[in-house]
Amino acid sequence: MMGKLKALASLWQNRSLPPWQLEALQLSKLQAVVEAARRDVPFYRDLYARAGLPQGMPRTLADIQHLPTVSKAQMRDAGLQTVLSERPRSPYALTYHTGGTTGVPLSIPLSAAEYRIRSLIDFRCLLSLGLRPWHRLVTVGPGQLRPVPLHERLGLFRATVILGEIHPARQVELLLKLRPDVLWCYSSELQVLLSQPGHPLKSLRPEFLIASAAVLEDRARRMAIEEWGREIFISYGCMETGRIAIECPRHEGLHVNADHLLVEILNGDRPALPGETGEVVLTALNQFTMPFIRYRLRDLAAWTGKPCSCGSTLPLIHAPEGRRDDLLRFAGGEWLSPVRFAFALRRSEHLQQYQVIQESLDWIRILIVPLPTWTTAEQDHIKQQMLAGIPAGVRLDLELVSQIESVPGKFRMTISRLPPE
Ligand SMILES: [Zn+2]
Repeated sequence: MMGKLKALASLWQNRSLPPWQLEALQLSKLQAVVEAARRDVPFYRDLYARAGLPQGMPRTLADIQHLPTVSKAQMRDAGLQTVLSERPRSPYALTYHTGGTTGVPLSIPLSAAEYRIRSLIDFRCLLSLGLRPWHRLVTVGPGQLRPVPLHERLGLFRATVILGEIHPARQVELLLKLRPDVLWCYSSELQVLLSQPGHPLKSLRPEFLIASAAVLEDRARRMAIEEWGREIFISYGCMETGRIAIECPRHEGLHVNADHLLVEILNGDRPALPGETGEVVLTALNQFTMPFIRYRLRDLAAWTGKPCSCGSTLPLIHAPEGRRDDLLRFAGGEWLSPVRFAFALRRSEHLQQYQVIQESLDWIRILIVPLPTWTTAEQDHIKQQMLAGIPAGVRLDLELVSQIESVPGKFRMTISRLPPE
């Protein structure tokens, strides 16, 4: 507990470090991550040997441009054992599964220490938005069972996860029971919750809301503000590296967690200028089990290039573009979030990429680029799992294809061809 408080205090201080001090912190972390990856992770060892990267690189933050960038498909093709550290370690604390921005599934195991720092970064974000000890936080999204920490047993900073994969009607029931002071969910989940027939959540009075991951449709923002009259903050994260950035109460942009991640925004191979949109490339500064170094996230974003009036020196980006996934809609007014629908797909070890296309109210096509290990048994298994989550009578076709177009910031995991409601 004391160790955690100390770590949090130091993270809190990082929010207002002078830029030179923040850069020194980033450089020492970057050097440690690159050195460990080169020594312990076959994928990076081979990559840097092939690139002829001299020992001792990077010497400065700008040197990072000499390191090759990597993609999710590249890491996945290399095989999980190759991208993990060979160093003996305690069992993984947990494994995340991603698929969202590119439709390429990947498993990301984390050590207990890595999980802890991610939780503390999230907690720092919440505190910066005004979370108070008596608030109850409810997150709708990915989660796992965890022991209830001491402070929660004492009634402080109570936090509950409602799993993203359970049915929206059940999520509504749980939300009405829990009555969150702070609600944190995927933008798509928020839209689904707000679209429930009869507006059952109208009686909730959250202090504020955080919308994660995808672009928040104006419609969802308007609905949340109309129903609850509360402030919404945009949060930007990914399973691979954790929380990337979050809006602050001044709404002048999203503060990048620059002590946790080195964020580059590239236009081709050169850093984008302030205000210029480019591709987001991430280096996780606290992740050694499965390092992500110059990882192309395939999102598009831009630096604001201006300091924030709140006083935090963590740099600001504009809300990212891309990640605009359509919701699925069925006869009878039922909505489904793509996050929930793609659950079975993102957990599969046997496919390279997928895309969900809703052609009509009763017809969904799923494009799958299979890996050589793909089997008809796997196909049947995924189809059964997905059919269980949608209304009876909806036709579901799984189609094996050799490739799916994937341009940075343009890929959509879910495409709806339905006319707007
Ligand atoms: Zn700010």
